[in-house]
Amino acid sequence: MAEKLTEIFGIDVFDETTMIERLPKKTYAALKKTIQNGEDLDPAVADVVANAMKDWAIERGATHFTHWFQPMTGITAEKHDSFISPASGGKILMEFSGKELIKGEPDASSFPSGGLRATFEARGYTAWDCTSPAFLREDAAGVTLCIPTAFCSYTGEALDKKTPLLRSMEAISDQAVRILKLFGHDNVKSVSCSVGPEQEYFLVDKAKYLKREDLIFSGRTLFGAMPPKGQEMEDHYFGCLKERISAFMKEVNEECWKLGILAKTQHNEVAPAQHELAPIYATANIATDHNQLVMEVMKKVANRHGLACLLHEKPFAGVNGSGKHDNWSMVTDTGKNLLDPGKTPHENVQFLLFLAAVLKAVDDHADLLRLSASNPGNDHRLGANEAPPAIISVFLGDQLADVLTQLIETGEATSSKQGGKLNVGVHTIPEFRKDATDRNRTSPFAFTGNKFEFRMVGSSMSIAGPNTTLNTIVADVLSDFADELEKADNFDVAVHDLIKKTVTEHQRIVFNGNGYSDEWVAEAEKRGLPNIKSMVEAIPCMVTDKAVKIFSKHKVFSEVELHSRAEIEYEAYSKTINIEAKTMIEMANKLYIPAVIKFASSLAASINSIKSAVPDADVSVQESLLKETSSLLANAKTAVSALTSYVAAAAEKEGAEQALYFRKVVFPAMSSLRTPIDELELIVDKELWPVPTYGDLLFEV
Ligand code: ADP
Ligand code: MG
Repeated sequence: MAEKLTEIFGIDVFDETTMIERLPKKTYAALKKTIQNGEDLDPAVADVVANAMKDWAIERGATHFTHWFQPMTGITAEKHDSFISPASGGKILMEFSGKELIKGEPDASSFPSGGLRATFEARGYTAWDCTSPAFLREDAAGVTLCIPTAFCSYTGEALDKKTPLLRSMEAISDQAVRILKLFGHDNVKSVSCSVGPEQEYFLVDKAKYLKREDLIFSGRTLFGAMPPKGQEMEDHYFGCLKERISAFMKEVNEECWKLGILAKTQHNEVAPAQHELAPIYATANIATDHNQLVMEVMKKVANRHGLACLLHEKPFAGVNGSGKHDNWSMVTDTGKNLLDPGKTPHENVQFLLFLAAVLKAVDDHADLLRLSASNPGNDHRLGANEAPPAIISVFLGDQLADVLTQLIETGEATSSKQGGKLNVGVHTIPEFRKDATDRNRTSPFAFTGNKFEFRMVGSSMSIAGPNTTLNTIVADVLSDFADELEKADNFDVAVHDLIKKTVTEHQRIVFNGNGYSDEWVAEAEKRGLPNIKSMVEAIPCMVTDKAVKIFSKHKVFSEVELHSRAEIEYEAYSKTINIEAKTMIEMANKLYIPAVIKFASSLAASINSIKSAVPDADVSVQESLLKETSSLLANAKTAVSALTSYVAAAAEKEGAEQALYFRKVVFPAMSSLRTPIDELELIVDKELWPVPTYGDLLFEV
């Protein structure tokens, strides 16, 4: 297998090795310049690349190509065209031009645009992103050449998640290079962001999944009582893999490797039926494309194994939800990680400056970061006692916190705490050096050695948004820093003063304690840190003057784009809750209520038949069960009627007002319906219960 792995890795990717093999030297050099330095691409070069790509793809069995893009739905989209073109004598030629490689023209009217375009102006363009390699995908339709593209409107506004991410990568690169110049690193031409997203997911049995409309329509269970066993035994986390799960993981890994994705770590997660896959980090843009592919591959492979892969942030109430830890750092084109503190961070002024920039960015724009990790599913996680709180803070660990304290208190940092040796008290186990810092699982934004880990992101989300925000807010601080330092007479003194001033002003964002505790919520409020409770309440952050200023200054989003995106977010929230509420109404009316009526009737029949057989028999158990059932049934019916009328009222509203109504009125009404049904589940005969239970779904995989 080891040999096989090196053979299959990247086999479906038109990667650098393939390009060197197949492109004329000059073409390759020109393309490389565009990829590395963002220089314009000559159309003649595109023609040659397209032809080589086509030959390569056809040799591998491809019949079609597609511009693969990431509209604001958060998932990917594609439209396939075959390579055929008519030739003389009733024959065909296989063709693919540079023009077809560079530009596509899907009808844009059916994708969310937030008012950026009316349906009658349907023109939208996809444009080749040559920084992310093309790849092949095989499915029932055959083999398709997929070309990663950006998607924009006729007037040039971004209609996707990739374009702003690419813009933000340019912004942070430009600003970081300015800073590095001041430190004398003239050789650094660009700085890229490295991202390693850890993906959590659930696997459930497909046949059981198909019996639950809530899973099918909304990706999460909308009803369900807790089984006798949940995750309290802590026996699933890192537990031994069940055979069916290992078979799934093996195939996911192989598919990922073929696509050049560095799938690295896999294990069981905290909740039963929950697992994780982490790749080795890559450049933000490629990591984003890869993460989209990982999610697609997981869904497809699960299907083949009679499983359903749930990527929702909270598929089951009462057990842990799923997130996506977004590990992020900045790396120069010369290979230096700017967030690497080295052995003696207190002496590493350049590192401290970048660290200070991140602290300031996170503190100044905590609202934007919070928003970037918001979706309807994540509302169930953030702030609940399992995921990071909705309050943003930064965990630095003992070593760095100590360095910053020295700086703040004395103006000088003269030492760095070291990790020391770890001795476990068993002679046969070798001693090893431990890290200078322990881990903290409760922090939303944690420094983990040489990178930050943004832990709030939801499992189903594209990581493009969070990284776009992170890159932009850090770019903005670096730009202010550079402005100030470029003017300084004495650089060393100026840098020192700037670091001290910044960490002093922003120390409120640093928190190394337990982020789940109530004391922290109170403390954070005292410190003036925002605690934005839900997605709907976070959306307005996108269009504040402060947000418009930084996003437009760094050319990541224009004001028009920001407003359109806010509108899309409101709409997405409303649509999601609307689907969930309607699914609940349907399940209650068509499944649960009829099942409960059957159960109640059988109780009544039993009482009647026993009484007629033995008039003085004790039927108190049946009677009290019947009373309890009937009363819960009445509650359920009242709740369905209320929910139905709220959903109808919501349909009359629009935009922010509608989203807020869904949050404040419809959402609580959904809980009111869930409560009696879940109580009934614990009473009603299992044979009569119309859907698989939590126990069936979580433990019988
Ligand atoms: P843990 O979260 O348990 O500390 P790892 O150290 O293995 O796990 O890292 C988790 C993820 O972070 C992996 O995807 C890894 O590739 C990624 N990662 C490691 N170093 C960096 C870095 N410098 N920049 C971005 N991501 C990184
Ligand atoms: Mg992690």
